[in-house]
Amino acid sequence: MENSKQMRKWLDDMNLSHPLVIAGPCSAETEEQVLKIAHELKDTDVNYFRSGIWKPRTRPGNFEGVGAIGLKWLQKVKEETGLKTATEVANKAHVDLALEHDIDLLWIGARSTVSPFIVQEIADALKGTDKIVLVKNPVNPDLSLWLGAVERLYSADIKKLGVIHRGFSTYEKTKYRNIPEWQLAIELQTKFPDLPIINDPSHITGNRDMIFDVSQTALDLNFDGLIIETHYDPDNAWSDAAQQVTPKSLIQIMKDLRIRKETDEEAEYNNNLSNLRAQIDILDNQLVDLLGKRMKVSDGIGALKKQKNVAVLQSNRWNAILGNMILEGEQRGLSEEFVLKMFKAIHQESINHQEKIINS
Ligand code: PEP
Ligand code: MN
Repeated sequence: MENSKQMRKWLDDMNLSHPLVIAGPCSAETEEQVLKIAHELKDTDVNYFRSGIWKPRTRPGNFEGVGAIGLKWLQKVKEETGLKTATEVANKAHVDLALEHDIDLLWIGARSTVSPFIVQEIADALKGTDKIVLVKNPVNPDLSLWLGAVERLYSADIKKLGVIHRGFSTYEKTKYRNIPEWQLAIELQTKFPDLPIINDPSHITGNRDMIFDVSQTALDLNFDGLIIETHYDPDNAWSDAAQQVTPKSLIQIMKDLRIRKETDEEAEYNNNLSNLRAQIDILDNQLVDLLGKRMKVSDGIGALKKQKNVAVLQSNRWNAILGNMILEGEQRGLSEEFVLKMFKAIHQESINHQEKIINS
């Protein structure tokens, strides 16, 4: 992907004054439903109308999409509203049908990106197309797998390429449906600054009340666009009911989002930014310094435990520390989730230090 400057061209050519917005229902349900939503999204900030036709459900037995008939409905959307259309493709047959029906944007779903076989099949079927192709991150937080899929499409001479960040599965339940792991998306952006990146707050949150905040974070991190599931009757949607928003809410969300510029020439801005970054650098150094000191104290405890021949892990003590720190964190605006993660990592490092001493 050496010629990466070319990658942004399709997005820059659109001359958008706001982020690229893809909206529409999770699934096409009926022709009426698709057209009704599309008409409500006409003449808004929405650039592309999305709708799943083939729905990969994690467990069988749920609604699995209307199939190829939905492509005709999407063609009607374009005729009646002028909105460009977008759908997910998961194999060669889907690609052939979508191209036949002149779908403008095709995306590869998170469950497909995990399989190099299926990605290659899709890339071969798309070879040389001038349609926009967006690759969702794989369900697991594996940057190479995501990049590998992008590379396969890039090698198939697809010029209008981009990615969608839709979050990652976890075994533990969190407040997200799929945790964002922003660091992964940032790393991808750093490696390929010219690869357009779209955020999917719907599948990250699984919850319509959190769509705004995740969208704002994405814009603050310089994402190029948003894909947001939209339905006129979200609660009765045939798939992903909890995360869909009405067209009216979508319009409000777009209005309320603060759209930031990537750079600003103004000296004041630059000064303020450098100043704040410098403060962060200083605090980060202090953090590492303090952690180093804490581990030295741990070493001392390890030496004492060795003398007494007691176990490294003292669960009561550990639970008391955690409880206290969650409360302390709360007073300083730190989320319980973050405090837990941070102290688990500190605790693990501390145990490693003490183990080393006890076994020395
Ligand atoms: C979707 O966009 O409707 C979808 C199925 O998403 P994902 O592949 O991210 O699960
Ligand atoms: Mn969905």
